[in-house]
Amino acid sequence: TTPLLEVRGLEMHFPVKEGLLLRSRIFNRAVDGVSLQIKPGETLGLVGESGCGKSTLGRCIARLYQPTAGSIVFNGRDITRLKPRELRPLRQDIQMVFQDPMESLNARHTVGDILEEPFIVQRLHSPAERRQRVAELLNIVGLPARSASRYPFEFSGGQRQRIGIARAIALNPKLIICDEPVSALDVSIQSQILNLLIELQQEFGLSYLFIAHDLAVVKHVSDRVAVMYLGKIIETADSDTIYRAARHPYTKSLIEAIPVPDPHRKISRQVLSGDVPSPINPPHGCAFHPRCPEAQDQCRQKAPTLQALSEGHWGSCHLIYPPV
Ligand code: SF4
Ligand code: MG
Repeated sequence: TTPLLEVRGLEMHFPVKEGLLLRSRIFNRAVDGVSLQIKPGETLGLVGESGCGKSTLGRCIARLYQPTAGSIVFNGRDITRLKPRELRPLRQDIQMVFQDPMESLNARHTVGDILEEPFIVQRLHSPAERRQRVAELLNIVGLPARSASRYPFEFSGGQRQRIGIARAIALNPKLIICDEPVSALDVSIQSQILNLLIELQQEFGLSYLFIAHDLAVVKHVSDRVAVMYLGKIIETADSDTIYRAARHPYTKSLIEAIPVPDPHRKISRQVLSGDVPSPINPPHGCAFHPRCPEAQDQCRQKAPTLQALSEGHWGSCHLIYPPV
């Protein structure tokens, strides 16, 4: 199958502001050469600690940002450098669901107005048809029709996320970028929202880029997983391979961090020490070396590159490359 989304060598380097000065020769390399693909109907999980660039990458793909280098081909069309005016039709096809619906939903508007807005922006339907569509959307995400006349603050976090999802699917998009859609929710509510996303995917043939900071959440929904560290993808494979046979020391540490309800399991978890280094001044050599339990001399000098380990499994670490 032709991919729905094909990202190549994507970079988003922000000039660093310090005080009033825009020090244009210093850059935050938030996204630093990312390539990935998403097929129709597929979910790619994108995992990494906060600050690794995953949200920035998602926003570049949704073209909320204009990337500084690389290319994004969506549905056969290069969308990397579309101008604001040219982006409007694209907004139908690529949507986002955010972590905190309270921030993304206009609190002074009723839910009905919020859900009608995409149709108004795209100049679709008569007012009566729009209200009909709003009622359908509420029904699809499991909210009563009377929700339309209420305000976002009158809903629980999980219900608000349902509203955010209803808005995201309003225009029948092909791709939804879910940026930590359940991170702010109670664990009991998380699985309800994840199940809703899975149902909608099956019903409407949606593709997802599912961004999360832990592998546990992503495990539930993803066909393939990409692990990101300091602006780069450091390992990618189908979900099964990532969970059973991860090779990169960073991925292994994320897997170790997944809580397991097993009282017999020893608490000898290798929890990662230290913070994510700054993408403004990344460590020399392998960017993970200051935190890597397996780091060796060569890791401080030479940056590893992403190489194929087996069919569909890629990793970026000096210790895991197959012999040439
Ligand atoms: Fe660790 Fe070296 Fe591999 Fe980097 S290249 S992940 S520092 S072993
Ligand atoms: Mg984020």
